[in-house]
Amino acid sequence: MTPQYRAVKGTRDLFPPETERWAAAESVCREVFRAHGFGPIRTPILEHTELFTRSVGETTDIVYKEMYTFPDRRGRSLTLRPENTAGVARAVIEKGIATGPMPLRLYYVGPQFRYERPQAGRYREFGQIGAELFGVAGPAGEAELLEMLFAFLKALGFVNLSVSINSVGTAATRSAFSEALRRHLAAHAAAFSEEDRRRLSENPLRLFESKDPSVRALLSDAPTPRDFLDEESGRHHEEVLRLLGEAGIPCEENPSLVRGLDYYTRTVFEVLSKELGAQDAILGGGRYDNLVESLGGPALPAVGFAIGEDRLLQVAPFRPPAAGWVLVLPQGPEELSEALRVAAEVRLAAPGSSVEVDLLARGFRKGLSRAGLIYDEAVARGYDRERMFVVLLGADEKAAGTVTWKNLATGEQETFPRWELSRRVGAGRQA
Ligand code: AMP
Repeated sequence: MTPQYRAVKGTRDLFPPETERWAAAESVCREVFRAHGFGPIRTPILEHTELFTRSVGETTDIVYKEMYTFPDRRGRSLTLRPENTAGVARAVIEKGIATGPMPLRLYYVGPQFRYERPQAGRYREFGQIGAELFGVAGPAGEAELLEMLFAFLKALGFVNLSVSINSVGTAATRSAFSEALRRHLAAHAAAFSEEDRRRLSENPLRLFESKDPSVRALLSDAPTPRDFLDEESGRHHEEVLRLLGEAGIPCEENPSLVRGLDYYTRTVFEVLSKELGAQDAILGGGRYDNLVESLGGPALPAVGFAIGEDRLLQVAPFRPPAAGWVLVLPQGPEELSEALRVAAEVRLAAPGSSVEVDLLARGFRKGLSRAGLIYDEAVARGYDRERMFVVLLGADEKAAGTVTWKNLATGEQETFPRWELSRRVGAGRQA
């Protein structure tokens, strides 16, 4: 049957067990972030368009061509958030806590929207997990944030990741660097695509997003932000590197790393995974000391990161711990209500297990064959084969007040009084 409706291009549906894996990774994240004093914030998916043009930057790819922007019924321009930092900064200012006690540690988990060309690992709706640390101007801000990030990545089973890091200095560094880039590239502009010519004239830093190999080659021997770094930013950068070294966080300096959002100052970083190909980062982040002030708040330094959840889960070795599975099988419709009660008892005795009742009550033979199929797919479904059971409940068992307990791994079957069920289930759990 051809479906009449399809998911919007670049969006996708996720089902179990993949959704279980997402949820488990998110709970690892919540645990690690809480342990570092970070609390969850939820901001709206819809924001006023101007928030992003002001913060992300008018000439960035995101704002220029990737936003889902539309007028609401009163003609106000709204945008589905393409990233969450601007929304968090707006919320912190609006609530009045940008002038409150510091540091302020917040994190978010949620969908973002960008009208990009869909390809492997790149979606129009994608998940991000991000953290923002406000009120710390010194390098300890970067150190804490990256230490937390690596604790999370380690908990997801990564072993060989390293941070690619750079400093883009201050606004003055940016404009001097930008001018130098323009001079370096101007003579070649005639051969550029229309888009790259626009980048060159509006914001040469954006040329780092160009896919054109000849532009990339020109950029490889172009000046870097480091050539224009002020003394204070240079010292800050050295200190960040020293603290990360002490914390045992593997870093590689990348002098030409310039991230795709305009609000960064000083530190910028990325973590790439070889499995995603050279261009694709699992996460990116940096310091944004001027953003809060530029949105009308107080001068408030900040540093943060955003992890692409889809890509993270694509490459993370992480598997959630396998769960037990129990099927309560009524012989026919007469045993159904009893089966529902037995299932409730099993749930109490085996927390964390997935306990199902065969609601269609199709009889033992069909029920057991379904249990066999699920047993075969146990690994893919995230079940622990040692903890997969069927509780058979027939007319005989009902009359005698017993249940028959079948261990799917061994095929062993045993009938015992129903009051023994919780004890046996509990014992099965420890086995
Ligand atoms: P950014 O907000 O551009 O700094 O991106 C942070 C991270 O979000 C990137 O490193 C990616 O992992 C992820 N990301 C950005 N855009 C997409 C997308 N269209 N699809 C999937 N992940 C994305």
